[in-house]
Amino acid sequence: MESTMVTDFKDIKQEQMQEFLHDSIQVPDDLQSNVMVTTLDKVYNWSRKSSMWPLLFGLACCAIEMIATAASRYDLARFGMEVMRPSPRQSDLMIVSGTVTKKMAPAIVRIYNQMAEPRYVLAMGACATGGGPFKEGYSVVSGIDKYIPVDVYVPGCPPTPEALIYGLLKLHEKVERQSITTVPWYRKGASEAIPVPVLGPDIFDPRKVQIIKEQTLGAAAAVKGPAASKARLQPQPMTEDAKARIRAAQAKYRAQKQPA
Ligand code: SF4
Repeated sequence: MESTMVTDFKDIKQEQMQEFLHDSIQVPDDLQSNVMVTTLDKVYNWSRKSSMWPLLFGLACCAIEMIATAASRYDLARFGMEVMRPSPRQSDLMIVSGTVTKKMAPAIVRIYNQMAEPRYVLAMGACATGGGPFKEGYSVVSGIDKYIPVDVYVPGCPPTPEALIYGLLKLHEKVERQSITTVPWYRKGASEAIPVPVLGPDIFDPRKVQIIKEQTLGAAAAVKGPAASKARLQPQPMTEDAKARIRAAQAKYRAQKQPA
């Protein structure tokens, strides 16, 4: 009986280790209990995904589901992420759970900039993903990905704890596909901080300030005389050049977040 249990245990251990073993370097049979050959990427990614520390950060009703996920029934401890960190400087993962108002967006971007790399963002729920039931409301932004790069979207209003855990597993898969040789945080030069959006009558993104100036001041400057003040108030159609620049900026940010 005892020897069967030992064999079973060995089989389970072997099965769990299988995904970490090197594809081509074989270990002789008599050393298999003591020696394992793997890659640096596997160890590096396994350690990061097994201790993904989330930021304690909730915005609205979705946060209640996030809190439930962290409680005993769902047990985030099995992923090494049971303690939500109170500081962005100790966190790897921002779970944006709830409605993102225009007033809150600058604070979210500022907190994101304070997180050390590698850092990830999970948009939890319809509101954080695209505005949800408040989309195009006067006070709500249509998704946090307008301002910071999002790695995983979890749909639902609100998503269940099971859905959030599924999103976290998807994030683990993304981490597993990255390589230490190509990840952005080990490239030369410091990463650029994301400009903090400016809260005003309507929030605006400083990355688009040049385009906004060209569209408003440029168009108004071209009109002289009594019609000039009226022209300033007229919305101007966006030029093809401005659209191309927006597309180029979006492609640049997407490329930065591509998994290796
Ligand atoms: S997605 Fe639904 S549950 Fe989540 S914050 Fe928005 S309204 Fe609340």
